[in-house]
Amino acid sequence: MEKVLIVGCRKAMDDVCIACSRCMVGFNRREGEFSRYKDMDAELIGILNCGDCPGATIVTRLAQIKLWNKPMEENVTKVHIGPCILDHCPYKEAIVKKIKAKAGVEVIEGTHPYIPENIFA
Ligand code: SF4
Repeated sequence: MEKVLIVGCRKAMDDVCIACSRCMVGFNRREGEFSRYKDMDAELIGILNCGDCPGATIVTRLAQIKLWNKPMEENVTKVHIGPCILDHCPYKEAIVKKIKAKAGVEVIEGTHPYIPENIFA
């Protein structure tokens, strides 16, 4: 069973990206970077924000979610980094590097595929 943690931008989550629903729908439908779980048991374990600019607390926050879920014996097995970080964050290289260095599980760049190409066309 894969236990998926999504990491996103604190300034965008549930604000620019309302309810973080695109990530959740993408996971539920196994689309975008979640298509790798198509024929597998996989659960979404959380959607964690980066901790705010410049992402200095991301490693601490990863450690915190491990402790937070320990009583339920829920352990993250995959980390996905959202497009709110990958496409927009000026600190993304440092954040992604830190997550990959410290997560201890596979880190996948990307989540849902529902980025709008245009607004009025
Ligand atoms: S560090 Fe990047 S991902 Fe985090 S709040 Fe700032 S812009 Fe968003």
